Amino acid sequence: MKIQAFQTFAGQKGFLTSGKMAFGILDQYPVSLEYTNGNGKRSVLILQFMLKAPLDKMQQKELRESLAKTAGLYVNQGTIRFQITARDSDVDDQFESVKNTALAFFKQNGLAPISQCPICHGENCDTAAFYAGGYRAVHSQCLHTAMEQVSDAAARNQQNGSYLLGLIGGLLGGFVGIIPSVLTILFMERIYSLLYALIPLCIYWGYKLCKGKLNKAAIAMVIVLSIVFLFVLEYVVLVFGVYQEYGIFSPVECFQLFIQPDILAEIVKEMGTSFIFLILGILISWGQITKTPQTTVMNMQSILQTSQSLTPAAGQPGWNPFDSATPDAPVKDDPNPPIEG
Ligand SMILES: [Zn+2]
Repeated sequence: MKIQAFQTFAGQKGFLTSGKMAFGILDQYPVSLEYTNGNGKRSVLILQFMLKAPLDKMQQKELRESLAKTAGLYVNQGTIRFQITARDSDVDDQFESVKNTALAFFKQNGLAPISQCPICHGENCDTAAFYAGGYRAVHSQCLHTAMEQVSDAAARNQQNGSYLLGLIGGLLGGFVGIIPSVLTILFMERIYSLLYALIPLCIYWGYKLCKGKLNKAAIAMVIVLSIVFLFVLEYVVLVFGVYQEYGIFSPVECFQLFIQPDILAEIVKEMGTSFIFLILGILISWGQITKTPQTTVMNMQSILQTSQSLTPAAGQPGWNPFDSATPDAPVKDDPNPPIEG
């Protein structure tokens, strides 16, 4: 099954689709269906439920047996994942079989979906959305408040953020970031390469704390400053090394020495490993660095796009959708139609 076929497949089940993901509500259990792999013949889908309580070992064993190899079972606390690997001609039957087995098992064992809102931790949610690792119940009000907050923060940063202040913050952060490396090189006469990874992190936090404008230019600035501070580090070590060795504190002379092409070339040559660890630091902090207010707004928008009402279209007021998750409740064949919007 190719991805387009997956979207059609999930759409026909009443799921909301978004790229490789689809979101649905099966008998009041919010679920995500992920398309992980597929060629012309076989497909791999992951159906994920989030339950209020984790499955114990006995329940896991029992559920695995009821599945009878129609799906792999992966349990992490209350997050239950069924990996369905099937020939394309069988995928529909196998999906239905796994779905029905899972729902019947959850209901027999009184395993309700997680009902606590991940944002305010309150109960009585009215919406399902893909939030914090899974498709789960949430208050639509909480989602919209969160959206407003991130949009406001983005607008404020856009208005008040400053490249100059950010640069100053980045420079201060860079000096803080090289301190552990300088100290270990000078006093322990060792280089802990991993400490280099601190440099980009500190530059980023300095940039952010001093209210630098957070956008793509900030990413570029963090990378450029990281490289600059690798040289600053070498220079500071040279100045203090000379001081330790000869008792002469001569930053100016050291700088003149430092910028001589042959010496600089030698330094760059020896930078090999530290450069690798600096890149590692950039990669470690990449998630932070690239998390600008704009991307946060975009993430929040994509979360909102996954949301659909938890109560059925003909929902009665005051009806708690989780009441149906009691033992011996009948298993419905059709998923609830999603409410677009
Ligand atoms: Zn809430």
